[in-house]
Amino acid sequence: MALTVTGIPCLSDNYVWLLQDAATGAIAVCDPGEADPAIAAVERLGGRLDLILLTHHHGDHIGGVSALQARFGGKIIGAAADAHRLPKLDQAVRAGDTVTLGSAAGMVLETPGHTVGHITFYFPDGPAVLCGDTLFALGCGRLLEGSAAQMHASLQALAALPPDTRVCCGHEYTESNARFALTVEPGNQALIARATHVRNLRAAGQPTVPTTIAMERAENPFMRAADVARLAAIRTAKDSFR
Ligand code: ZN
Ligand code: FE
Repeated sequence: MALTVTGIPCLSDNYVWLLQDAATGAIAVCDPGEADPAIAAVERLGGRLDLILLTHHHGDHIGGVSALQARFGGKIIGAAADAHRLPKLDQAVRAGDTVTLGSAAGMVLETPGHTVGHITFYFPDGPAVLCGDTLFALGCGRLLEGSAAQMHASLQALAALPPDTRVCCGHEYTESNARFALTVEPGNQALIARATHVRNLRAAGQPTVPTTIAMERAENPFMRAADVARLAAIRTAKDSFR
């Protein structure tokens, strides 16, 4: 594959994603919520940093940006709509814009719902999608600013990506999401098997991501919600699920 994708755990349950273009060695880091793990990961790959990609403005996704850029440089890319609450952007992007990582191109999708300015980076060469807190493995982000209609449209846009696209999401929430998903679709055999696999991975201290668009289409009740009302009902139920 043209892009190597690595998830770096940080904070309590966040992932910083590190992408490397095989052809040129160019490196991008997405959502560095904490500097030290991201710096160590970039150092391990030789200390080159081309892009710092930001999906949204929350502190657990941008907290490490200034230290990371001070150390390695790197062009900071984020949503034009949220430029006022993101670190100073070198490239402010909107839906349909392209970001360049060596020989690989990433497309910008606007995916509001969790926040109104949330964006997602899709790299067809990976294929991989950096979706922040919009889509999670077996879940989706809380509606902190956006509407259920916006989140529904965002999830359906992600569902339309190629099935083998690796889903690189912002948090390790999968085990709790799996328990909730089983209450929504108790008869979904693929989901039942996945939930067991996820439990085993977590018990062994392993990450459950990246997942794929195909897996989420088959097993994620938020992506599978047929309409906005259904998504809104599931999201509300999840907000109080323990
Ligand atoms: Zn967030
Ligand atoms: Fe987050």
